[in-house]
Amino acid sequence: MSGTGSDAGPTGADWAAAVDAVRQVPADGRVLLICHVNPDGDALGSMLGFGLGLRRLGVRRLQATFPGPPEVPEPFHGLPGLDLLVPASEAYPDPDLVVCFDAASASRLGDLVDRLATAGTALVLDHHASNTRFGGIHLVDPAAAATSVVVEGLLDRLGVPLDAGIAECLYVALTTDTGSFRFEATTPAVHEMAARLLATGIRPGDISRRIFDHRPFGAVRLFGEVLGRARLEPSAAGGRGLVWTYATLDDLARHGQRPYVLEALIDSVRCTAEADVSCVVKQVAAEEWAVSLRSKGAVDVSRVAVALGGGGHRFAAGFTGRGTADEVVERIRGQLDDAVIGGGDQEDQRRVSVFPR
Ligand code: 5GP
Ligand code: MN
Repeated sequence: MSGTGSDAGPTGADWAAAVDAVRQVPADGRVLLICHVNPDGDALGSMLGFGLGLRRLGVRRLQATFPGPPEVPEPFHGLPGLDLLVPASEAYPDPDLVVCFDAASASRLGDLVDRLATAGTALVLDHHASNTRFGGIHLVDPAAAATSVVVEGLLDRLGVPLDAGIAECLYVALTTDTGSFRFEATTPAVHEMAARLLATGIRPGDISRRIFDHRPFGAVRLFGEVLGRARLEPSAAGGRGLVWTYATLDDLARHGQRPYVLEALIDSVRCTAEADVSCVVKQVAAEEWAVSLRSKGAVDVSRVAVALGGGGHRFAAGFTGRGTADEVVERIRGQLDDAVIGGGDQEDQRRVSVFPR
């Protein structure tokens, strides 16, 4: 595989190199798994599912970690394999093998980025088209709906059968990145993989409720307040429309909530019929904001995110913004017109045109 932004998936040689990298870890070798900062279901599920697979292969010195505070969001507290997690400060300084999950660029590894240099081998599993091909061996498949699709492919080639623990991790990852099989990436292959995972006996109702439909009452009230201040800008993005809102650290404190509860907020904002693009600006420090962007298909929000220092997929992307929330949104507005790719959700656009204004 060569070149940044290539749409081609892993070649036979890439798969073989990845299998060799795992098989060549010495019996007492140390393996460090790293997923991206502020991990989501695909990052954590892919990493822990692969970790459980390595454990089945007999790898004993095995750690999983991510940069930033060693805090797993409450929805993931039931994930199998959590015992593999260590705080970033305790991660092996020079592992024999490091494996990175769902990170499009080295910067997503935060302080752990040095392990790319100190590890014997660095293997990268990802599905971002924008992956910069950091590390040594790349299993990057932009056609994959989630990084967990790549993980399943590697476990299969390593001869590791799916068990319920591995399957639950990979199912959480797959449902996270396909929006529970609602997004465009939901191909027949995705449903075939889901069938293999479900065949292990995992319980999709319980898992989905824990991951997607379960939050403290304080978060429900917080959402009400933050959604109540959402703004609709029909003329933004070349007339495709922008809807956005913001949440501050003070909002979180007043409702006694942890920052992770805001991850689900974009899903309530992006359903706005009158806007193709949706945005949530979440304060992480005095003048620092984590920005989530979504498009229904008329705008390539990864272009916006990349232009502002972040990354992501065409229809789901993000970046870190500095200044006030208004300044951050103003910068987004400035990039939106250039990111219009046409198309989009025709039905939504038709509905927009018959709405009384
Ligand atoms: P979310 O809005 O769910 O946090 O992120 C959506 C997608 O945007 C993620 O899958 C990830 O690919 C990307 N993304 C979000 N935040 C950042 C960021 O700060 N930097 C980069 N490079 N990508 C991001
Ligand atoms: Mn992903």
